[in-house]
Amino acid sequence: MKKIYALLAGLLLTAGAQAQQSKNWCGTGEPTPANLEFLESLRDNGIMEAKVVNDIIYIPMKFHIIRNSQGVGNYTISDALRNMCELNDWYAGFGIQFFMRGDVNFINNTAWYSNFAEGDDATINPIHNVANVINVYYTNMTAIGLCGFGNFPGTGHPASTTRQGAVYLSPGCSGAGNTTFAHELGHHLNLPHPFQGTSGAPAGISAERVTRNTNEISPRLSSNCATAGDRFCDTPSDYIGERWNCPRTHTQVDINGDLFDPDETLIMSYANDNCVTRFSDEQVAAMRATVTIVNGVSGPRRYWLVPPMDPYDTIASMPAPLEPANNATGVPNNWAYFKWSKVPGATMYLLRLRFNFTTLEEIIVSDTSYLYTGTKLNGNVNYRWSVAAINHKLTCVNWTTERFFTTVSNGVGLEALEALKFQAYPTQLSPGEQLHLQFQDGLQGDLAITLRDMSGRLVQNIQTTVPENGLYEFPVAAQSPGVYFVQVNQHGMSQFEKIVITR
Ligand SMILES: [Zn+2]
Repeated sequence: MKKIYALLAGLLLTAGAQAQQSKNWCGTGEPTPANLEFLESLRDNGIMEAKVVNDIIYIPMKFHIIRNSQGVGNYTISDALRNMCELNDWYAGFGIQFFMRGDVNFINNTAWYSNFAEGDDATINPIHNVANVINVYYTNMTAIGLCGFGNFPGTGHPASTTRQGAVYLSPGCSGAGNTTFAHELGHHLNLPHPFQGTSGAPAGISAERVTRNTNEISPRLSSNCATAGDRFCDTPSDYIGERWNCPRTHTQVDINGDLFDPDETLIMSYANDNCVTRFSDEQVAAMRATVTIVNGVSGPRRYWLVPPMDPYDTIASMPAPLEPANNATGVPNNWAYFKWSKVPGATMYLLRLRFNFTTLEEIIVSDTSYLYTGTKLNGNVNYRWSVAAINHKLTCVNWTTERFFTTVSNGVGLEALEALKFQAYPTQLSPGEQLHLQFQDGLQGDLAITLRDMSGRLVQNIQTTVPENGLYEFPVAAQSPGVYFVQVNQHGMSQFEKIVITR
């Protein structure tokens, strides 16, 4: 949120939506009594003290990116992957990691993209939520004053089942270095704000008190940290339910007259992004317990761990871009072929096409080549392309150095390409005999025909057009007996046939 907070605040003021700031940027609702009872039960069962971070818990995620109805949006696959990469950094010390299950789901809906309203998730989630994963949606919620929200267990839409609830994130709060994702995931893993139940009336009887002494002498009241506030006793009592910057001088006192001193390093607080760094031990124990069974207490999100994550390998190197060559020209705008080298450990590649610094396309490719036949490239324009190697766990995107290519307009007629088929006969010829190339009906236009010998040496090269009757009589120039290959090219598409010249 950090600097972006200030930026968004400015935008909201000019939009006259100042009243919306009462949302305080995190739209997560109140924890239910069941959520709070679960946390209290953890202390009762000795789980709060369980500092177990040796075994890493891997939790699956599904990304849903909402764009306008034309498929245009300001958040890309690589943005979401970077957000997950940084999320894993935030949680790395706490024995929790996240991975991507399945591909990225794009939802093209202008109403949900430009005018997201509170309650729209009640419509969206039942359509798009995937079972047994964290469903993460990116859409612009700044108009309603939100950076994001993450439903507590047993809340959201639907409120139960293995498809329950979701995390929603505004792109403006999900850039590099933002902590919104880590914060909303905390709620999704059952963590309240540290000012829970306290910010409304910090000196009230039900607020979480500053003292941690459970045997205070009357008239002072003893600690209530186990049953009030966020239920954690290792997060200092907090009273600030609005964004605040650190360091900050505090003057607010609790019912005992003790001065509050909230911890600005807690990710679940409302301190700005540059202040927060961590979860407390008890918060970590609670998050881990939420997805597992500890000491007989069954966490409400244990359905996320079924089935477990597939193994993954580290990715130690970068792919090498192969085709098109750097500064290549004549690349058909509707038939652009990209190829790169395989990288150990990678199971997916992200291909990016840009015009200047504007991303036109990002495509997840499971192979090491991709034929682009989309509509985002124009003719006679210089574009950039690069590629990044990833897998379901390692999503930190390292782009290769960009290469450039220039397109030509309508270099390829797709219908013709799909129809490019010929039959060659006879496939055994005497020297001087003609080879018949019978093209499929409807194929027309320029043809390049080459004949090569077994070593690949070019024997013959003919530029011609497809005859009207589709039958081309190819005067084979090869005189020596042996095996030859006929290659027919039309606009980058080619087909081979093997022929034999006999004595
Ligand atoms: Zn929150």
